[in-house]
Amino acid sequence: MYGMIATWRMSVEGITKGREILKNKGCSGDAIESAIIEVENCEFYKSVGYGGLPNDEMEVELDAAYMDGTTFDIGAVGAIKDFANPIRIARHLSKEKVNNLLVAEGAEKFAHKEGFERKNMLTNRAKIHYYNRLKEIKEQDIKPYSGHDTVGMVCLDENGDMTAATSTSGLFMKKKGRVGDSPICGSGFYVDSKVGGASATGLGEDLMKGCISYEIVRLMKEGHSPQESCEIAVNNLDAELKERRGIAGDLSLIAMNNMGEWGVATNVEGFSFTVTTESQEPIVYITKKVNEKCIHEVASKEWLYNYMETRTAPLVRK
Ligand code: ASP
Repeated sequence: MYGMIATWRMSVEGITKGREILKNKGCSGDAIESAIIEVENCEFYKSVGYGGLPNDEMEVELDAAYMDGTTFDIGAVGAIKDFANPIRIARHLSKEKVNNLLVAEGAEKFAHKEGFERKNMLTNRAKIHYYNRLKEIKEQDIKPYSGHDTVGMVCLDENGDMTAATSTSGLFMKKKGRVGDSPICGSGFYVDSKVGGASATGLGEDLMKGCISYEIVRLMKEGHSPQESCEIAVNNLDAELKERRGIAGDLSLIAMNNMGEWGVATNVEGFSFTVTTESQEPIVYITKKVNEKCIHEVASKEWLYNYMETRTAPLVRK
């Protein structure tokens, strides 16, 4: 049995690639890395890799992580600039004995020394988004950090080996040096091949408060299904945040166990995700919340069409 699950519609091309690798008996590490690279390379996905939206100084600082659920190897980078595929660097770091999580200049030095491809990750489209946002902030009262989405994935191969990985440009207009949950083990991702894995997207500052990916794996280990585990963890964290702080940020989680069963939960409307298993070609679903429960509906052709239309539509500077 093999399978993959990932956050957001933008993961579908990557998941399709990853599935081919799994189908041809490739390992979970190679499948998840290629899948994430596919998303990082698409300039129209404005929250991951090339084309990702910049920080408030108009620099694209990226976070990424990789975890092997069999060996517990973990590698991650935070606030890295000017490298094409942060996930490659994260996976490479997971092979090191120490220094597994590197940030900013340190991460860039390491990547340079190891010969990773340099690239200016700031596209013209991203610049237009930046200038338009500056204008909007001046003119209207908008949520300063709206506009983000991490690609997070969990993968199971035929040998029963599991991996988890993330890649993101984090929050649009974040402060220089800000690192979210995505490269933080237990928050943005966690995987144990003996149980399963989980990955998060949403407001990193809140996701970290619940170590939520680890919490989901812990619940699966206790015997809950992936769907129950996601719902329990998301609903609990959402309630705790509201009780203690009056407000909860966006929390969306995906999970898969080592039998290829999967689950998804969110506290927002319209969270999309992609799943594939041995018997199932990649499908994009959209999750709706109905009384604390998450109902997953297959995305319609029209929704899928509109998604790509809006991503690729010409942009003008306001
Ligand atoms: N969790 C990411 C961060 O806070 C952003 C996202 O997934 O939307 O950096």
